[in-house]
Amino acid sequence: MSTTQTTQPVQFYRPNYHVKTPQMRSPEYVQMSTAAAITLGLVAGKMHRTSCTHCLNLLVTYPEGCRANCAYCGLARHREEARDYADRNFIRVDWPTARYDEVIERVKAGSDKGRFERMCISMITHPNSNDDTFVLLERWTREVPAVPVSILSNPTTLDKDDLIRMRGLGADIFTVALDAVTPAIFDRTRGRGVDSPHHYDKYWQAIEWAAEIYGAEKFGAHLICGMGETEREILEVAQKIRDLGGHNHMFAFFPERGSLMEDWPAVDKGQWRRVQLARFLIDYRAKRVDDMAFDESGRVVDFGVAKEVLEHEIAAGTPFRTSGCPGKNDEVSACNRPYGDSSPTDILSFPFAPAKRDLAAIRRQMDGKPVKVGR
Ligand code: SF4
Repeated sequence: MSTTQTTQPVQFYRPNYHVKTPQMRSPEYVQMSTAAAITLGLVAGKMHRTSCTHCLNLLVTYPEGCRANCAYCGLARHREEARDYADRNFIRVDWPTARYDEVIERVKAGSDKGRFERMCISMITHPNSNDDTFVLLERWTREVPAVPVSILSNPTTLDKDDLIRMRGLGADIFTVALDAVTPAIFDRTRGRGVDSPHHYDKYWQAIEWAAEIYGAEKFGAHLICGMGETEREILEVAQKIRDLGGHNHMFAFFPERGSLMEDWPAVDKGQWRRVQLARFLIDYRAKRVDDMAFDESGRVVDFGVAKEVLEHEIAAGTPFRTSGCPGKNDEVSACNRPYGDSSPTDILSFPFAPAKRDLAAIRRQMDGKPVKVGR
């Protein structure tokens, strides 16, 4: 799902950051989200109702690409025949490539105007990904210590000692992109079902290692809502991660053009809003999935809190913002990933505080009305 598929969330001009050559590989080069490239002034552009991202999302890059084959992912091996690795869209947007030297120099020179509250290194399944992540991390924490680093890990290539080493190199938060919340969905979308090397148990082992090594509030998991699980199933997984001391970073399933799941429907908006709200109560209000009630199809019918409490949280809007690693405010994600899982004319994860008109539409979506939010 590149920017060409829906209304352009970003108008930009990219001098030479698009022309990728076989030499462009990590650790000398990194890819970054379009929002980060705009915030850093590497490319010119505007984003709908927001001027920046507060997280410099970086991605290790190699011309031969990711060796895994996740069904919903823009970087997956099955896209080899479709487009050059450089041009593959990832979570709905392009990821321009730049020299790491320049990225660091620009941040140190204040080109982001101090808006980056976090940097994140996303790993892929590639023989060099571990070592290059160590190099990128070590250099960042030495040269830009003021901006904390998250690691979006690839457990398939990692051992426990690697997590310890990243901690030692200054990683602040360690995150596991579990994505698929049940063993069956995981195997179907990331494992044997798509001839891909990932295993559900290994991902959980990495989450448990992270709880032990990084400690409470300093690790988390990415969960995708809308890949066939019920609301109860994804919230029970969220509870399990919260009980270990971690946080849940939610993504609404949005079909990526060219992926094996491009014909799978985007997540139902009512489902997504209920899961967003329940996840927020579990992660930040010490509420438990055990206190919530579900109907026969696993849909939330009671959030286990008083009506006025629920009303207060909805009116605040924070539950419907992008969930991710925090910046200056613990409950608000620095990693606001503008339009990473929805179009700007129909926002699912808000990269900014929802306005009153947005909240009115969100309430209607929770009641099952197919309304759009975000204009
Ligand atoms: S939430 Fe954002 S910053 Fe945190 S690991 Fe995920 S992509 Fe990185």
